[in-house]
Amino acid sequence: MHAVAHVDLDALIWNYHFLRDKSAPAATAAAIKANAYGLGIIGIAPALQAAGCRTFFVAHFSEALTLRLILPDAKTEIIVLHGIQPHDYAEALARHITPTLNHLGDIENWRIFARQQEIFLEACVHLDSGINRLGLPLREQNQLADNHGLLDGIKVRAWMSHFARSEEFDISMTREQRRRFIEILNQLPPAPASLCNSSGIFWGKDYVFDLTRPGIALYGGNPMPMTDNPMHAVLTLKAPILQIRDVVAGDAVGYTSTYCFTKSGRVATLPCGYADGYHRALANRGKVKIGDHLAPVIGNVSMDLLTVDVTDIPEHIAHVGAMATIIGPHRPIDQVAVEAQTNAYEILTSLGPRVERIYSRP
Ligand SMILES: *Cc1c(COP(=O)(O)O)cnc(C)c1O
Repeated sequence: MHAVAHVDLDALIWNYHFLRDKSAPAATAAAIKANAYGLGIIGIAPALQAAGCRTFFVAHFSEALTLRLILPDAKTEIIVLHGIQPHDYAEALARHITPTLNHLGDIENWRIFARQQEIFLEACVHLDSGINRLGLPLREQNQLADNHGLLDGIKVRAWMSHFARSEEFDISMTREQRRRFIEILNQLPPAPASLCNSSGIFWGKDYVFDLTRPGIALYGGNPMPMTDNPMHAVLTLKAPILQIRDVVAGDAVGYTSTYCFTKSGRVATLPCGYADGYHRALANRGKVKIGDHLAPVIGNVSMDLLTVDVTDIPEHIAHVGAMATIIGPHRPIDQVAVEAQTNAYEILTSLGPRVERIYSRP
């Protein structure tokens, strides 16, 4: 009796094709970092590959190595957003893993390595257009524009940049980042360009350039939280009722007694706590679905358990062994995220390692 994450690969593939059609004529890669946003690269990566995805973005080199074991075909591109340290270059080359170069020092190291190998080496080059996080700052972009020789021996797979607030209703910052991106692209050697994450794709064809990099929308999160979610739900997280007890007025529930019954009722306990990804912030705020009924979370969320009020749910529906849906098509991750005062990304990537992932066959 434990929590189970059902991952709907048909929905994942529908989402990929939807984003691919919206991105066209640009190609559509997949952001698959953080173990495919918690859903598990072991199930997600082969399904995306079968759906036609040829390019995968991860954050860490270690993630790239794991992904390469799952997708051994060298024609499947794996790009490391955080870059690769020089002591890993030889292994990266052997495993066909492409670095992102985030500053001039990165570019120089990769250029020296290419010269040693006496071949052209591919790399993504990240140009910061306003997020001020990773990528060449404007000063370094201008140095590169003034001296293309800094790229000798490097075949630019893509010039890339990343939006800071593309999911917001107000497009002004997104538009400005696009303008800065084009301005610098015009001064650099021609190569494919990549600007859009999931939400960027929804601003239309002027934004997609040659390659898009959606993540959250593939996994069912709403790329544009201001509007209805066009994506299909991929994750259904369920847990069985372990125990039910009757309580009377004055009884309290859970650690530090944060919920107190004012009349008699029934409490159901589920094996899903914060170690499984059910945030403590959902204490006395979240809801789970049992049959067609919503049961409010009462009391604190503990490491391994949560408690819900099933007083108003008939006993033939809320009984020991009955499955509660914690996240699912009718309990959307974006809704749970609002209740937890976070976003869908954090809800997905919180899914604990001990939660069993079951992948439906596409
Ligand atoms: C995570 C990430 C993405 C994917 O973003 P989503 O908002 O999940 O679509 C794309 N590009 C970069 C650089 C990222 O770090």
